[in-house]
Amino acid sequence: MEPYELTITEAVALMADRKLSSTELTKSCLDRIEQTEAVMKSFISLQPDRALRAAADADKKRAAGAGGSLLGVPLSLKDLLCTRGIPTTCGSRILENFIPPYDATVVERLSAEGAVIVGKAAMDEFAMGSTSETCAFKVPSNPWATDCVAGGSSGGSAASVASGQVLGSLGSDTGGSIRQPASLCGIVGMKPTYGRVSRYGLVAFASSLDQIGPLTRDVTDAAVMMQAICGYDERDSTSVDRPVEDYHLFLSEGVNGVRIGVPREYFGPGLDPEVRRTVMNGVEVLKSAGAQVVDVSIPHIEYCVAVYYLIAPAEASSNLARYDGVAYGFRDKNAADLLDMYKETRSQGFGPEVKRRILIGTYALSSGYYDAYYKKASQVRTLILNDFKKAWEQCDVLISPVTPTPAWKKGEKLDDPLAMYLSDIFTLSTNLAGLPGLSVPGGFSTGGLPIGIQLQAPHFHEGELLRCGYNLEMGVNLERLLPPLMNAV
Ligand code: GLN
Repeated sequence: MEPYELTITEAVALMADRKLSSTELTKSCLDRIEQTEAVMKSFISLQPDRALRAAADADKKRAAGAGGSLLGVPLSLKDLLCTRGIPTTCGSRILENFIPPYDATVVERLSAEGAVIVGKAAMDEFAMGSTSETCAFKVPSNPWATDCVAGGSSGGSAASVASGQVLGSLGSDTGGSIRQPASLCGIVGMKPTYGRVSRYGLVAFASSLDQIGPLTRDVTDAAVMMQAICGYDERDSTSVDRPVEDYHLFLSEGVNGVRIGVPREYFGPGLDPEVRRTVMNGVEVLKSAGAQVVDVSIPHIEYCVAVYYLIAPAEASSNLARYDGVAYGFRDKNAADLLDMYKETRSQGFGPEVKRRILIGTYALSSGYYDAYYKKASQVRTLILNDFKKAWEQCDVLISPVTPTPAWKKGEKLDDPLAMYLSDIFTLSTNLAGLPGLSVPGGFSTGGLPIGIQLQAPHFHEGELLRCGYNLEMGVNLERLLPPLMNAV
């Protein structure tokens, strides 16, 4: 076994026993990146020298007796998390040369635990997309079938973890962007409750929906990363001042008596039979571990796509108004006057999907249409939240698919935005209701592509999610394999 194949937990244990150094581990990951990156395209930028310096520093700290839950562990970061002195592009030409003067709070927290940041991962432009194909620089591959998408928008994060380039990553999830690529790439992805993780230094897409969370190779590692990043931050007014539970404690608890809700609307027509079979197998696994299975209903789920694709673009159109070429980022230097400069900067700097969102969002917010679109969508959002509140009277955790199908071919949905948006149908409600959600590998399609299972829980019940996720992982008992990527390289 090569060091890059280890989970975070295994690597930390080996390093604590002095059987592995962070320098060895980081070099192993960097070699793996060198061998695979031409095919994987997971990274927008790499910082190998910085990573090796951080690894050497971690080794010194450990030798001096220091600890840290991620001390010496190589990780990647989605390229919308601000990193001091390191370009942060958001996958967009408009921020191609943007170098933040500060670190996001989550980056500070990972560093405080001793993590080694290897590079910034590819993503859909401003996190708008479901395949990472709207990235202006690189389109990551699915390590299980390199002609397929890795998912999105945190596709580079998922691809880098699944292919052994790093041991874990941070992504962001506005409508599924952590859970969906995790599912398509065969790893674990967790979206925490709205307010659980500080978003200070996360470049905003849709502020009432965005959350940061981990992508890891197993549920235990997700708990480790969650422990590192969760908690109150006075620099983010939406962060909630509430103690963080010890997530590890939940892992060792069984699921005896836990009520698992199966929302019937998530299993309707259009669901790939292999995905259905995989999720139903997950239900059986939890049942045989002692959980109680209950049938529940989220009747307004059918409006999720329409509601999300009004609210998210509306908020985006407002958030992205700041990219005007004046203070930072790309500027068209040939413009005749100020208005022309705004127009040309934004026309050249943004890609087609971002422009589509800005147009939809601006329209939905404009006077005369606001009541019919944005306000109506916000009202239906409340109905969806109320559906979940009712469901929590009957169950503790919900189980469902993450995506209607396994990964699809690159290019397949790129010219069909509606088909792309519909692929988000199972993940959007979690964000609209502000809930925590987890994607755990559940099996493989006959074509050998991973299929994830989604768990959702009430606000701030991350521990419960990790507990059920861990039991699911144990029961499904997939052989832990890195994808046979080396054959393709
Ligand atoms: N696919 C969704 C979108 O395109 C969700 C993206 C996300 O969660 N960042 O908006």
